[in-house]
Amino acid sequence: VRPLLAVEDLAVRFDTEGGTVQAVNGLSFSLRRGRTLAVVGESGSGKSATGLAILGLHDRRRARISGRVEFDGVDLAGLQERGLAAYRGSRIAMVFQDALTALSPYHTIERQLTDAYRRRTGASRRAARTRAVEMLARVGIPDPVRRVAEYPHEFSGGMRQRVMIAMALMGEPDLVIADEPTTALDVTVQAQILDLLAGLQAESDLALLLITHDLGVVSGVAHDMLVMYAGRGVEQGPAAEVLAAPEHPYTRGLLRSVPTLHGDPDADLTPIAGSPPDLLDPPPGCAFHPRCDQRERVGGDRCATEVPAFVPLGDPERMRACHLPSGALEALEGSVIR
Ligand code: SF4
Ligand code: MG
Repeated sequence: VRPLLAVEDLAVRFDTEGGTVQAVNGLSFSLRRGRTLAVVGESGSGKSATGLAILGLHDRRRARISGRVEFDGVDLAGLQERGLAAYRGSRIAMVFQDALTALSPYHTIERQLTDAYRRRTGASRRAARTRAVEMLARVGIPDPVRRVAEYPHEFSGGMRQRVMIAMALMGEPDLVIADEPTTALDVTVQAQILDLLAGLQAESDLALLLITHDLGVVSGVAHDMLVMYAGRGVEQGPAAEVLAAPEHPYTRGLLRSVPTLHGDPDADLTPIAGSPPDLLDPPPGCAFHPRCDQRERVGGDRCATEVPAFVPLGDPERMRACHLPSGALEALEGSVIR
């Protein structure tokens, strides 16, 4: 089956006063209908820049984008603004972290859910309202007939995030890009929103690109995961496999540094030493080498001089960029993630 989304050799560069920031560098991945791909990494790894690049949402005066973003056979990266606008909010929708800034405080939920929808479809106000109420019900907002007339500030954080998801669903998207959709919420509400996304994804055969720094989120809902570091893909594969047996020292470091969600609360947490690289002046070779506890095991100075290729580890679904032989990392003591 042809993937719904195929990103090939994507690069995003920002021109800043300090020089050029290479936010995304030669990134390739694909996503099929009915699947959830989690893109994981620390802040500054390029995951949000990737999400924005898919929909051409970067400021074109400052960002330089190259590569292909093939969506259902069309290269979105080659489209002009008008061509892209036809996809945004309809076939491809975005859900952001902060619903309070994404929603306008001045307009009712009805207005915000129906404006773009009416413009696109020519639906009557009444029909659009009916659809908005349906979508609010679908995302679990109680009493949607009344609440559709309210303003964002009348909703709790979790309910606002549901409204954002309802807004995304208005256009019956094939692909939803959700950037840290639960980060601003408390743990219980987070779990409810993730369940909601997973449920909608399964029932509508959506493709969901879930951008997150939180491996707990990945373990709950993602089929596949792509780990990014300094703008590149460093490890990819079925989420359960990657979480159970990471093959990249950075992925393993991330796993060791997260608080347990479902396992042993007393498990040792070891943060990764050092901090993410300065993308104005990234380290040569493997960008992770200044923080890597495994580089001594690689002969010579390879880690500091040669960029490791992102290549399959036998199974073509399982990819990694590291000079270590595959299977070199010993398993973690007791899995930190369910
Ligand atoms: Fe560590 Fe070297 Fe592998 Fe990079 S290539 S992750 S520095 S062992
Ligand atoms: Mg981000």
